[in-house]
Amino acid sequence: MLYICATPIGNLSDISIRAIETLSRSDIILCEDTRTSRYLLDKHNITYKKLVALHEHNENKIAEKVLSWLQDGLIITQISDAGTPGISDPGSRLCNYVKEHGFKISPIPGACAYISLLSVSGLNTPHLFYGFLPNKKTSRVKIINKWQVVDYAVCIYEAPHRIIECIEDIIETLGENRKLIMGRELTKQFETIHKGSATKLLDFILSDTNQQKGEFVIIIEPEIIVTDENCITIEQINTLKLLLTELPPKKAVTLTHKLIGGNKDLLYNYTLEHKQY
Ligand code: SAM
Repeated sequence: MLYICATPIGNLSDISIRAIETLSRSDIILCEDTRTSRYLLDKHNITYKKLVALHEHNENKIAEKVLSWLQDGLIITQISDAGTPGISDPGSRLCNYVKEHGFKISPIPGACAYISLLSVSGLNTPHLFYGFLPNKKTSRVKIINKWQVVDYAVCIYEAPHRIIECIEDIIETLGENRKLIMGRELTKQFETIHKGSATKLLDFILSDTNQQKGEFVIIIEPEIIVTDENCITIEQINTLKLLLTELPPKKAVTLTHKLIGGNKDLLYNYTLEHKQY
């Protein structure tokens, strides 16, 4: 059996009893960085038999070894440096390889950074987990652009040296009013959870260099206006945006309403809130 086991994302106590039991009886623990994992295992007095490094660059090679260990009847558990393996972390190639060869894989669930932020976000919409955006600005903006009008939240991971650039790209692409939620250093001493428009969040980060350090999750809130009686659909917003590139707001609203309906007041409010169009 191969176990895929979640570990804490900061607070070392965020580990399940089942994770501790499984790690204790594993013949081999696969981990990204043996030093990081040794620290966690020692903290929980887990006496391990063997630690083997599995990372992005040797996942295929180790997967072959894992297969032979499983054929010998050994218990193998994979962990990553933090959180759930396979979530912006190594693990998917190992899982595919082991499954293709007929062995069982079982998850040991636990901490995950974006799920932690979602749990306190107050959102009850569907969500998309994207993970890390590409390094190149053009590729990054191209992807962010897909989330102009969506009825789901988008969860992304970001590194500290790119957090400012990332929010600037969001402002450039989705507008300064797009609502964001930032989760920084979740479960750690300097945990910060900050909600607000993209520009306000950028100001908040720029105003304090401490807010530019650590690990980040960003949630881009859905962009769809819903009220009790009425809502503007994605189709209506897209039409309105297109017309706003050529027409003044009032005309664009009237034409959108004529073409595909929609509440005129809500459409007009939308144009006021998104003046950059
Ligand atoms: N597998 C992990 C999970 O389940 O969330 C994610 C691993 S990924 C390599 C690391 C990224 O996750 C960080 O760069 C950061 O974006 C996010 N992350 C991890 N721990 C975090 C924390 N305590 N607070 C905020 N973000 C965190």
